[in-house]
Amino acid sequence: MNAGMSPLDQTRVETLLRGEKADLERSIRGTRSELEAVLEARADGSADDEHDPEGSTLSSDWSRLQGLRSSFAARLAETEEAIARLDAGTYGRCVSCGREIAAARLEARPVAALCIDCARELQG
Ligand SMILES: [Zn+2]
Repeated sequence: MNAGMSPLDQTRVETLLRGEKADLERSIRGTRSELEAVLEARADGSADDEHDPEGSTLSSDWSRLQGLRSSFAARLAETEEAIARLDAGTYGRCVSCGREIAAARLEARPVAALCIDCARELQG
């Protein structure tokens, strides 16, 4: 393999990111309707959640779905930011130090906003 910098294929990255964005939006919509279903099931059931086995199932469904939704939302935000950087022509450059992000890093993580050094620094 060529060890040098290969020019980033922006079209391919954009296709990938837009596909990811559409997937995430679909997942978020799905999660939202599941949350609504849990809400409705709760409203229908008895108010006594604690002693109702079904009630506690609903509670754990609720937390699981909330967790899912927030992780989808976080990934969607990252993806949208990456698309915005593509549009602005700054994609592939570290948002912190301005240096080029290694192609291998972008390959592994197309939404990466930071170069490996800045990412490490951020993590402490
Ligand atoms: Zn950096």
